[in-house]
Amino acid sequence: MAKIQFPKKEEQSCYLDPREGFSNKSMPFEVRRDCLTGHVSRILSFRRKYPEVTISPELLEASRKICPFCPERIASSTPDFPPDIIPEGKMKRGSAWLFPNAFPYARYSGVIVLSQEHFLYPDQFTVDVLKDGFVLAQEGIKRITLSRPEFQYSYINWNYLPSAGAGLYHPHLQIIVEDTPTFSHQKVLEGLGRYSNDGDFSFWEEYIVEEIKIGERYIGRQGEVHFISAFSPRGVFGEIIFLFSNRRSVDEITEEDWMYFSKGLVKVLGYLKGHTPSFNLSLFSGGLRGSGSRVYGSLCPRMLIPPWNISDINYFEKLHGEVVCVVSPEELAGSLRTSFAQAPDHSVQ
Ligand SMILES: [Zn+2]
Repeated sequence: MAKIQFPKKEEQSCYLDPREGFSNKSMPFEVRRDCLTGHVSRILSFRRKYPEVTISPELLEASRKICPFCPERIASSTPDFPPDIIPEGKMKRGSAWLFPNAFPYARYSGVIVLSQEHFLYPDQFTVDVLKDGFVLAQEGIKRITLSRPEFQYSYINWNYLPSAGAGLYHPHLQIIVEDTPTFSHQKVLEGLGRYSNDGDFSFWEEYIVEEIKIGERYIGRQGEVHFISAFSPRGVFGEIIFLFSNRRSVDEITEEDWMYFSKGLVKVLGYLKGHTPSFNLSLFSGGLRGSGSRVYGSLCPRMLIPPWNISDINYFEKLHGEVVCVVSPEELAGSLRTSFAQAPDHSVQ
């Protein structure tokens, strides 16, 4: 029997339905637990119609006029790193710029502006734009950790659109480099530690093997980067997990890996364009060297829910720490698998 389990409890709630003459109605749902972190989600089977989301040109133009990340202002309106970290102040690659976050969340907190364009819809990001941004994020992390080796925990993050927490429309990543893991990363590291105590068992390797064998949530791979729909998602519209299966920390990731990751991400973003307009993304690196640690990440689609722009975060997530998910992880994987299959990459085996 596999060591990795996918525990779930099937439940139902009954009421008398006024839409059907107050007859008995049974509403099924599932309570799922993530075997690595213990995270609990409640999967509901409600049918949801996704709205076509467009952003008004007037709003985009108004925000562009005062945007510090647009090409005419970026050099003068954004901060420089201190000379002991990055002597040139800012770093550039392609159309991407890296500079310190003016509103830092951590001692080492940076912003990567991805494009010269003030706004890009999810399906307008190219592999090159994404790859340049991630490579620059990695180079910034390397420069910071070179002089501060005790800061071994690094995270590359993306809030896409204000409805997912972005302060500006102009697309940008954020890096944070810490000497201790974030809470979510700590839970994963604790889980990995429990598994690695059990001989030379590698959780991530076994996780990929199990998900491919089960075949319900595995989306596909690009190079050595695997894309999997989370069994117990952390987002109301599901969660897509990325796993750099042969990279223990972010400094090991090659430019080719970033290209493959960006190719997969372009496919995911293309899918999102027609479903949920915004998202949060994080990549996690650090800790447990030599004991099966891998660079992993997640993308959670986000949306203000019509008709009243209802927040997709409610008391369950905010105060109980459990996520109500209205998209079946298996359905999400099925939809995404189609888009991965439509444009096969020569590296996919
Ligand atoms: Zn801008």
